[in-house]
Amino acid sequence: MVSGFCDIDYGVSLDPEDMPRQWYNIIPDLPRKLDPMLDPVTKEPVKRSQMERLFPKEVVKQQFSEERWFDIPEDVLDAYRRLPRPTPLFRAKRLEEYLHTPAKIFYKGEHVTPVGSMKPNTALPQAYFAKKQGIDLAVSETGAGQWGAALSMSCAFFGLRSRIYMVRVSSIQKPGRKIMMQTYGSEVLESPSKNTEFGRKLLSENSEHPGSLGIAISEAVEDVLSNENARYLLASSFNYALAHQTVIGQEVKKQLELLDIEPDVMTGAIGGGSNYSGFIYPFLKDQIHGEKKTDFVAVESSAVPSTTRGQYTYDYADTAERTPLVKMYTTGHEFANPPIHAGGLRYHGKAPSLSLLINEGYVRSVSYGQTRVFESAKLFAQTEGIFTAPESAHGLTYAIDEAIRCKRTGESKVIIFNNCGHGLLDLSAYNDYNNGLLQDWEPAEINVPDYLKRKN
Ligand SMILES: *Cc1c(COP(=O)(O)O)cnc(C)c1O
Repeated sequence: MVSGFCDIDYGVSLDPEDMPRQWYNIIPDLPRKLDPMLDPVTKEPVKRSQMERLFPKEVVKQQFSEERWFDIPEDVLDAYRRLPRPTPLFRAKRLEEYLHTPAKIFYKGEHVTPVGSMKPNTALPQAYFAKKQGIDLAVSETGAGQWGAALSMSCAFFGLRSRIYMVRVSSIQKPGRKIMMQTYGSEVLESPSKNTEFGRKLLSENSEHPGSLGIAISEAVEDVLSNENARYLLASSFNYALAHQTVIGQEVKKQLELLDIEPDVMTGAIGGGSNYSGFIYPFLKDQIHGEKKTDFVAVESSAVPSTTRGQYTYDYADTAERTPLVKMYTTGHEFANPPIHAGGLRYHGKAPSLSLLINEGYVRSVSYGQTRVFESAKLFAQTEGIFTAPESAHGLTYAIDEAIRCKRTGESKVIIFNNCGHGLLDLSAYNDYNNGLLQDWEPAEINVPDYLKRKN
């Protein structure tokens, strides 16, 4: 039995006992097999044993799994319920009224977690599995700090030490989440750092090096490989990180069933692709081989246009080329840190499963520049009261565009976007927008070399 609050004009909140008890893994349901990750030196498929040196054993098992469902351990369910989960589904009624649209706009409230984003959905299980395996140090990187904050909190909950490489420019421009990480008990190093060989090399070339996500990943990987009892916990893109996020979509499914409606449009932001995949995969599952009912629209930043202007090819996940080659949509791993506020959308690649689904036409993608995105975010604050994250405002912008189209056509579509985070630590970006200081930026030509052919 599902219980809780439910009203078509307001939305749905579920009770803790309505939490999904399994994660959904889309791999066995994909329209064709995923291309394997390749060893950067041999160009042979990566083996499980190689990955177990870097990642917790249980998540490596999930990464290679063809099972459709993974049971959520009791301790992780308990941690989810205390976030709290399930998160509410809200109706953006005042936004609809402002737009004079016949469409119904809903949003999933992932901004309500203590760290203000959906990232604990995967940080909690990764920290739990690492601890259970007897690992004592979790290492990772963070750009704007959302992943670092979620990871630090999760490690604090499960009694694990954590060390985070934070992109130097972000740590200077956005000290808020660095303070959060340190308060949760993490050691935070500005990247490039003196703690790794790669970091020292970059600093010797430029002592003021601003860093990038790719560099921070390289440093975290090097750290783990030189530290037997450490493992690397990652935010996004890998199959298991996407599976963990499917608690979002499974909850939305229950919430819509209670309202007795089906989604016409599901939209959201893609950085690495985890929140959006977690949001849509439980719906896509029934539509890959069955009747297609929903328009799935992934939204990226036009400053990092991996799926709209990039290439679907093998590329490295990091700058130092230490990670496997992954078949995905990418702008190229040497892509410099783009000057945008949506820190979570700066990553050059997109998740392999989502890339495949976009390539096969099951999911569409669009891009927006940040001035357009902040115009929507400001409207959302004025109508719904919520400061949405610069990332989630990308999905919001598509929802608004679609609602305006509905006004013209008279269609009363059900439009849902994933409000994957809040923007209360991004007020300086709102301030820049309010003062007309925000600028759009787009990369010149994007050309990704064929790394499979290159000799090491
Ligand atoms: C990290 C983050 C993203 C981007 O990551 P995905 O893997 O694409 O979800 C988007 N929004 C928020 C709020 C984030 O914290």
